[in-house]
Amino acid sequence: MEHPENDSQYKGLKVNQGIVDAPTVNPYLKKRVQRKRYTTSEFVEGILKGNITILSQAVTLVESARQEHQQVAQEIIEKCLPHAGKSIRIGITGVPGAGKSTSIDAFGMHLINKGRKLAVLAIDPSSERSKGSILGDKTRMEALSKEKSAFIRPSPSAGSLGGVARKTRETIVLCEAAGFDTIFVETVGVGQSETAVHSMVDFFLLIQLAGTGDELQGIKRGIMEMADGIIINKADGDNIEKAKLAATQFRNALHLFPPSESGWSPKVLTYSGYYNIGIKEIWDMVGEYIEFTQKNGYFNHKRNEQAKYWMYESINDTLRNKFYHNPAVERQLGETERQVLNNEISSFVAAKRMIDLFLSNIDKPEI
Ligand code: GDP
Repeated sequence: MEHPENDSQYKGLKVNQGIVDAPTVNPYLKKRVQRKRYTTSEFVEGILKGNITILSQAVTLVESARQEHQQVAQEIIEKCLPHAGKSIRIGITGVPGAGKSTSIDAFGMHLINKGRKLAVLAIDPSSERSKGSILGDKTRMEALSKEKSAFIRPSPSAGSLGGVARKTRETIVLCEAAGFDTIFVETVGVGQSETAVHSMVDFFLLIQLAGTGDELQGIKRGIMEMADGIIINKADGDNIEKAKLAATQFRNALHLFPPSESGWSPKVLTYSGYYNIGIKEIWDMVGEYIEFTQKNGYFNHKRNEQAKYWMYESINDTLRNKFYHNPAVERQLGETERQVLNNEISSFVAAKRMIDLFLSNIDKPEI
């Protein structure tokens, strides 16, 4: 519960003194530690020094829906931007059970052993409903979660996919400024979230399983077209041959796609996240791609396109929020919707009326 009187801006009566807490009956119950409030420059300084506690708190501000948090968050992001952009960003997707967490754990440890610093972020628009995201959960990445060089953060639960994705995109900036040179963005391969991830990474990795022989069924064409690498997991024990067969099928299917804009031909590899087989080859493939696209200019081109995309996303998001939270709009929207449903006015007239109402009530203080 928030207490407005604790806010330094609050002008009303203040609670000067409360009563002393009674001693707890449970001696093991730790009192919640009051978080230190940092100033914007303390945040930025801490992030640039690679202080994980401060980084985490800054990410919490990025994820917060509160106006005052957002304001500080945006200031921090702006100051961190000049120090960002130097990492390799990899999107990882796959259906539940494909082995994302096992693979990220193995892949991540491989990178950490090579001296890299890794941030694992996630995009899961369903996390609002399920109250807590499974993706990016530390307990799913046992080895990585013990590493100082790894920063693991579950999906923000902002509701709409656009909102969740934007927060993750902003978190990337903070992680990069904190010295993380590799960023994983994990998502479940079930819907639109791939497109969001694709719009913020350099390399898009699709985890697949060898199945019943009809591997290509059920994979959205769009997702395969986005992939720069398809990796078939669980190529171990009795499953090796099946995985190899699946790899061949994927390679054949990829030949049918038009050549990608990057000029890169997506590769298909088999590996085992659980038994740590073939992990080095995946990283080699990513390295090869980065080198290839840096040479032909696509790497920068794509990052510029993404920057543009996020500018428009951000504009759209802000406008939408302002519109739907405008008191005049909020008051009228239900009635206008009713008129549309009763065929009293057309959808288009209704939309125009609502927009006009919004425009004539922009930033008017509530009376
Ligand atoms: P996620 O839902 O995509 O994150 O998948 P998990 O990483 O949780 O893996 C799902 C299940 O597959 C778990 O029981 C893992 O132990 C198992 N698994 C993951 N990778 C491998 C692998 O390389 N080989 C085998 N045999 N099993 C694996």
